[in-house]
Amino acid sequence: MSRQAYNTIDVPFHFRHTCWFCGEPSSTHLDFPHSCNIASNLSHPLLSLPACRECCSLSYPRHVRSIWSLRAHLKQALLTKYTKHIAIGENWTEQELIESEFSGAILGGFGKSAWQMYQIAKQRIAFNGWALSIDDQSLEIIDDTANFEFDGTQYLSITACIDFYVEGVGVDKELLTQLVEILTPNRFGYALQIAKLNKRLSHTKRRQIIEEITLQEAESQQIEQEQQSLLSVQSTITDVKVSGATAPAFAIQWAMQKRARTLAELCQLEDDFFDEFATLGGAAAFHSYQGLQLYLQAREEKTWAQECDPNYAVWLTI
Ligand SMILES: [Zn+2]
Repeated sequence: MSRQAYNTIDVPFHFRHTCWFCGEPSSTHLDFPHSCNIASNLSHPLLSLPACRECCSLSYPRHVRSIWSLRAHLKQALLTKYTKHIAIGENWTEQELIESEFSGAILGGFGKSAWQMYQIAKQRIAFNGWALSIDDQSLEIIDDTANFEFDGTQYLSITACIDFYVEGVGVDKELLTQLVEILTPNRFGYALQIAKLNKRLSHTKRRQIIEEITLQEAESQQIEQEQQSLLSVQSTITDVKVSGATAPAFAIQWAMQKRARTLAELCQLEDDFFDEFATLGGAAAFHSYQGLQLYLQAREEKTWAQECDPNYAVWLTI
C-alpha cells in the first residue's frame, strides 16, 4: 500500500510528539492496517498515527480490523511484557519501597527505581490517546472492542486480566477463575482479594473456599429476592380512613417494617415514630400517628380487617 493512502490524524498541540497508543514520546508513525493485513471490512479510513518505536515493533494478529482493536492488542502486548513492573504496585506500596533496605548492586537499584518503573508501565497501559480526527473532521469510529477494565487498566479480556494477576502477583489461577465465575466479573476486586489472601493452597482448601463463597452468594441472593418481593408488595399499600382520621401509606409501611401489628405494639414505638418523621413537622407527624393508632385499633377487630382494610393482604405477608 502506498504511503500516501494513509491519513495522518490530527494531533492536539499538547500531544505533539506523543505516542497515541501509550503516551510515551513518539519518534515514528504507525500505519494501520499494515500492508500485509487485510484492509477490507475496515470500519474507518487507513490511518497513520504518531507512535513510539516500541509500540510500532509490537506484533498483532492479522484479523485486527479497527484502530480500537489494534490498541487493545498493543496494550495487551505491553501488559504481558511489563507484567513484572506493573505487579510492583500490587506487591508493594511506595512507602514500603522507600523504607525497604535493599542493598547491593542489584537489589539497591530495584528499591530506587521500582516505583518509577511501576508508574511508567501503569501510565502507558492506562493512556487513552485523544479523539481521532482527520483535517478537523471527527472520525465517528465505534469502539468495537469488548475489553475488561479493572483498577484503571484495560485488559483484552477477563482471562487476560486473570493471567496478569497469576503471573505478576502469584495468585492461584484456578481459584481466581472459579471465584470470578461465581461472583461475576463485576466483582473482580472481591474475587482478587480472596485469591490474594490464599496464594498457596491445597486442593482441599481451594474446594472449601469455593464452596463457602458459593453458599454465601446463594444466601445473599435469596435475601435480596425476599427484600425485593417485600418491597413490591409494600408498594401497594394505600392510605386508610378510620373514624375521620387518615393513616397514611408511609406510616402503615413503617408500622409493618417495625412489625407493629396492634395498638399496644405501636404505643411502645411512639418515640421512634416521632424521631423518624420529625421532618414532617409536629402537626403532620401527630396526625399521621393518630391515624395509624386508630387504624391498628380498628384492625384488631377481625371482621373489620377482613372486610374494610385495603391492606389486608399485605399484612398477611408480614
Ligand atoms: Zn507507544
